[in-house]
Amino acid sequence: MPKKPSTPSQSTPSQSAHHPTHQLSDAITQLPGVGPAVAEKLHKRDIHRISDLLFILPLRYQDRTQITPVSELTYGEDAQVLVTIVSTGIKYGQRRMFVMETQDDTGWLTIRLFQFGKQQTQHLTVGTQLLVYGQAQINSGNQRWAMMHPEYQVITPQQPITLTHALTPVYPSLLGIGTKKIQRWISLALNCLHHEPLLDLPEPIRTTHQLPDLNTALIAIHQPHVGQSLDALLSPDNPNLVRLVFDELLGKQIALLRQKIAHQSENALAFTLNHAVYQRLIASLPFALTGAQGRVIDDIFSDLQHNKPMHRLIQGDVGSGKTLVALTAVLQATANGLQAVIMAPTEVLSEQHYLQAERYLAPLGVSVAWLSGKATAKQRRETLAAIQSGEAQLIIGTHALFQADVIYDQLALVVIDEQHRFGVHQRLQLRDKARSGDTPHLLVMTATPIPRTLAMTFYADLDTSIIDELPPGRQPIETLLLPQGQRETLINRIQHIIHAGQQVYWVCPLIDESDTLQAQAAEIVYQQLSASLPDMTVGLLHGRLNSDEKTAIIAKFQANEIQLLVATTVIEVGVDVPNASLMVIESAERFGLAQLHQLRGRVGRGSAQSYCVLLYQAPLSDNAKKRLQVIRENHDGFAIAKADLDIRGAGEILGTKQTGDMHFRIADLTRDEAWIAITYPIAQHIVAHDPVLADKLVNRWVGSSQHYADI
Ligand code: ADP
Ligand code: MG
Repeated sequence: MPKKPSTPSQSTPSQSAHHPTHQLSDAITQLPGVGPAVAEKLHKRDIHRISDLLFILPLRYQDRTQITPVSELTYGEDAQVLVTIVSTGIKYGQRRMFVMETQDDTGWLTIRLFQFGKQQTQHLTVGTQLLVYGQAQINSGNQRWAMMHPEYQVITPQQPITLTHALTPVYPSLLGIGTKKIQRWISLALNCLHHEPLLDLPEPIRTTHQLPDLNTALIAIHQPHVGQSLDALLSPDNPNLVRLVFDELLGKQIALLRQKIAHQSENALAFTLNHAVYQRLIASLPFALTGAQGRVIDDIFSDLQHNKPMHRLIQGDVGSGKTLVALTAVLQATANGLQAVIMAPTEVLSEQHYLQAERYLAPLGVSVAWLSGKATAKQRRETLAAIQSGEAQLIIGTHALFQADVIYDQLALVVIDEQHRFGVHQRLQLRDKARSGDTPHLLVMTATPIPRTLAMTFYADLDTSIIDELPPGRQPIETLLLPQGQRETLINRIQHIIHAGQQVYWVCPLIDESDTLQAQAAEIVYQQLSASLPDMTVGLLHGRLNSDEKTAIIAKFQANEIQLLVATTVIEVGVDVPNASLMVIESAERFGLAQLHQLRGRVGRGSAQSYCVLLYQAPLSDNAKKRLQVIRENHDGFAIAKADLDIRGAGEILGTKQTGDMHFRIADLTRDEAWIAITYPIAQHIVAHDPVLADKLVNRWVGSSQHYADI
């Protein structure tokens, strides 16, 4: 079947009369071709109702409104041409191809098709006219114009040339759903829009910020008029795009503001501060608290004495001692006869926390439980029973802490480590876990700083404390970049370091696919290094080991029975061996900056000068070079995060991962930073004065997370 050029998504009242049954609020399953499997994919992309389709933006546009003479093609650019077939043939090269030489009055064009069947090619005979849309390239041999697998339509008297009147939007394909289908559904959604325009912002707001009205903006984005420059359409300054960004920022901010208001009416148990037990903890430490730790503890203690739930974010660089600060809060909970949990992002980190808590709190009589994923069924049953009876006072684990079968006796404090935002969904789970009527106090800790604009807006529902001081005696770590080829030099250096009595970490390349592959890669590095350093004890630590094995290896490294520890990123957090003074990170270019900073933070904890060697695979891309330079030149996690933000953009850093369930469909927190501060007071105004609009906006942009409405 010859492919037809797609018709633009024209929507006119007469056309939409064919679909009188659809409404914007209908579930997408009402649309043709959306069965349960497709619906599930769309749901994953936050598309539940027909109206949600309107906010899928075109990636680009095709101009099929005109025909370009072959002689006027531009290399690398898409164009539509009208040509006649002069010869055809099948070529067998690396791939089987159907090749057509074609021409118009102005020049030759070679067309290559990679996937073709008999049915398809029997129409492609010499003398046939084709309307072709594709990217202009040049044959390396004869220097003629060429197109690889373009879209085309056979032109016959029955099927004459039909040029479209609007630019054709090209949508992203969502989880394998073809872009043509998405285009069809969006055009149906646009038909609905003509019948039931979306509720717009009040006129004065639009006038002040020179925003087009929402419905016009949507139509202009999906069905742009001919004659507009594609650059202008795709520019971030396109007022129609800005209008959508504005809407989304408002929707999200209103949802958060409402959440914040809801928090204020929640109740928590007010703790009675127990100074004596706090003093006993401090006296038991082998070091003094830093001033910054002391200030943050004051903030927390003052929150805990209120019957409003604490909702506090602690920002502090790697190694600033956040865990200990959290433990002081935990100790107040247990001293009040209440339970606390610490949730870590990974199993390994939860174990590290467990060990620290055992070390510092057990001597004070606190009973600490570790809800490990690796526990046997019997151990798990016992732990769950201890949690339910209240015998376990501090419970440490991953998100499994909030599973349905974990029932708490008196949960009053929740500490979340290494996370920015606690998702709304998790918050609800959490409230369900508390004693009825009470919400636990919440402490969130992160080493990744939040840019100021975001802190003031999207994080406005969290109070913030900063640990802006590292424990004394930490030496700045010298960081070096070394191409992989110079491994031998490095191994000589390692011998010296180990002979001088110090220890070394060697972090293996990051392999995303699976734990197993990662473990295999680590095994290989381990074998190589054991062979190169025969008189040293080399250890191996990776995620496939069970927790007893891991604990044993970390203990040996701590006792200097292992001099060189080959590890995967399981050591990223928590492991604390002051005698280790060299950190080698292999294929450093594959790691994120925050992760490199975390890894490097494992050394420089003792009195010796420490080094971090970033081994890289040459040649480095410009971007990779920039990123590794950032790590080499900066020691401060805040500066690194800021540089990371500049290179990668906030959307990527804060988008899906860090903001819990707050992810953005259209707005980009870096690109649109200036708008964030502008929309915030407007969001506040709408919350206070226009509940109907507030509902609509929340529904439009947060929509299916009905939780926002429930809170
Ligand atoms: P992070 O903020 O990265 O989570 P940790 O809480 O893991 O840091 O602390 C890093 C190390 O510093 C731990 O070994 C901890 O015991 C130690 N530490 C914490 N506070 C101090 C302090 N005031 N003085 C010296 N060492 C400290
Ligand atoms: Mg930590």
